[in-house]
Amino acid sequence: MILAANLKCNHTRASFEQYAKALEEGLAGGISREDEILVFPPASAFCARVKNFTQGAQNFYPAAHGSFTGEIGGDMLAEFDVKTVLIGHSERRAILGESAELIREKFSFAAARGWRIVFCVGEDEAAFAQNCSEEFVAAQLEGIDLKYRNLILAYEPVWAIGTGRSAQCEQIEKMLRSLRTKSSAPLLYGGSVNAENIAKICAIKGCDGVLVGTASWDASKFLELIRVVSHRYTSLP
Ligand code: PEP
Repeated sequence: MILAANLKCNHTRASFEQYAKALEEGLAGGISREDEILVFPPASAFCARVKNFTQGAQNFYPAAHGSFTGEIGGDMLAEFDVKTVLIGHSERRAILGESAELIREKFSFAAARGWRIVFCVGEDEAAFAQNCSEEFVAAQLEGIDLKYRNLILAYEPVWAIGTGRSAQCEQIEKMLRSLRTKSSAPLLYGGSVNAENIAKICAIKGCDGVLVGTASWDASKFLELIRVVSHRYTSLP
């Protein structure tokens, strides 16, 4: 299973240092070889070195460097050895106004460098209500290389993100099945995953892991989630 933590705009450099320490210690006993932990902290909090999990970037601008005020380019990620990136998160699409064109540019830039891409898709409330989730997601995948070797796809219905209202297993299974017809990439579900529902979600046919927001912001809570799905992982800090 892949367990990814999206810390969003939470954690300072000091608090993420504590978070990373807790995770490193908690995972020191080892997790199953089939499991992988990805953590996306704010870019201002990247740790110089991590061992037991992979550090990824929530955002970047598709250039190595240049006149892109406020942005973070490839050179800055390289300094922290960050080669895993989130692209297409609904908050960046809706709140930060990222267009499909910019998202495609980010994808091409990351793919050209061989980075691991966690590409997020998911329908909004209206499309879900109209039973148009598959069409909505298919449109988000237009122009995206679904055969890219270092791709992970995350199905994250917008209405389930940060709401405490996870999608039903039937809906998740249906959407993962639909994604599987398009790509052989690992498939994640994201949207109000927590300690109560993670086992059920990870047991869904076709589910290769989860992308977790709120329930991952506290390292001990994220470790609890890891413990539920990783059979070899037993210790808690
Ligand atoms: C997310 O932001 O990717 C997410 C899944 O958030 P939450 O777990 O809080 O719904």
